[in-house]
Amino acid sequence: MAKIIGAIAASHTPTIGFAFDGDKRRSPAWAPIFEAFEPVRNWLARRKPDVLFMIFNDHITSFFFDHYSAFSLGVDTSYAVADEGGGPRDLPPLPGHAALARHIGQSLMSDEFDMSFFQGKALDHGCFSPLSMMSPPSPDWAMPIVPLQVGVLQFPIPSARRCYKLGQALRRAIESYPEELDVAIVATGGLSHQVHGERAGFNNVVWDQQFLALIEQDPEYLASLTQAEYAELGGLEGTEVIMWLVMRGALSAQVRKVHQSYCLPSMTGIATAIYENEAAPTPLRGVQERHRRRLAEQLDGAQRLAGTYLFDLERSVRAYRINRFLHSLIDPVFRTAFLADEEAAFREAGLTQHESELIRQRDWRGLIHHGAIFFVLEKLGAVLGVSNLHIYAAMRGEPLEQFLQTRNAPDALYSVAGKQAGKQAWDH
Ligand code: FE
Repeated sequence: MAKIIGAIAASHTPTIGFAFDGDKRRSPAWAPIFEAFEPVRNWLARRKPDVLFMIFNDHITSFFFDHYSAFSLGVDTSYAVADEGGGPRDLPPLPGHAALARHIGQSLMSDEFDMSFFQGKALDHGCFSPLSMMSPPSPDWAMPIVPLQVGVLQFPIPSARRCYKLGQALRRAIESYPEELDVAIVATGGLSHQVHGERAGFNNVVWDQQFLALIEQDPEYLASLTQAEYAELGGLEGTEVIMWLVMRGALSAQVRKVHQSYCLPSMTGIATAIYENEAAPTPLRGVQERHRRRLAEQLDGAQRLAGTYLFDLERSVRAYRINRFLHSLIDPVFRTAFLADEEAAFREAGLTQHESELIRQRDWRGLIHHGAIFFVLEKLGAVLGVSNLHIYAAMRGEPLEQFLQTRNAPDALYSVAGKQAGKQAWDH
């Protein structure tokens, strides 16, 4: 059974990454940052967690306002370093523990947290700047992560209390994972800072100290504060410290603080801290089994439905490349290139032989078996001039005419092709 062995909290300013990359440990301005992370590095080296659950926020790098969500869980097997304007930092991709992520995702959903899930996204300094300092890659990363991106930059954002409750649900999720795994929770962000407007440069050292005491001893009080109170006390961008409440909620009521540091070199109060559970109960098998039964409830039986392929996170991650390829057909430039030279498009997208062959053969049933979702097949159909009804019949393994006889309107053929596709051969 998985267990939470403790938690780390750390600010995530880009300066931490610059200090690391420039190896500025001997420069007086940067030395305090290295000192702050030294005990964290030692704790991780000694406790050797199998996985880090990384709570961070993206800074409008990989998560933009075209679709901004509150709690986004990474379910990928690998995470690249994001380019934030001057090229990505020279760090290897970070492995993701996809199986644990899927379990946590399912558990949080069954606890009524409506999560969003991401893959194929690079992570920015919110994740990588503290991580490179606390567990530097040599040459690879010491452990995989499960990332949780919290949308804290476009209001409305989750309340402090919602973050705390998510942490409590996160504990249930991790402790019900059936494999033996030691998990450490890492919360990043804060402390006080504001980086925009006439109030840019705002800090509050007194509040930062209070916050550090409260997160340890009275998280309930922190959960009761409003976002306006956080903004007044710690700056608008400093409101991101509510992410620490996710971490705190996943720990026992009483915690032991085994390390804390604080410095204010420039714009942001930089803190690091380590907490261990004071009451570390032996996980009760019965409680975990009850929780596992509950999270299996919604889909129990769905696997037995013949001819039905649940599009779940496992399938989605496994078939991401081909779904991405077929989804790109909504882009007129891509579809023109695809129609002009299919083989070149396959090569450029790095499709495997098998994936290319499924598309080349218009193997609609094979594509579904492989993990493509129907809604990208209808896009391919639209591009190729194939109606949805042709695809349905092919998936069933029936001639079109036979399938049409089972419809109330046997003459109705349609696809999602727009007027750009022109008149379709089957459209009478
Ligand atoms: Fe931030």
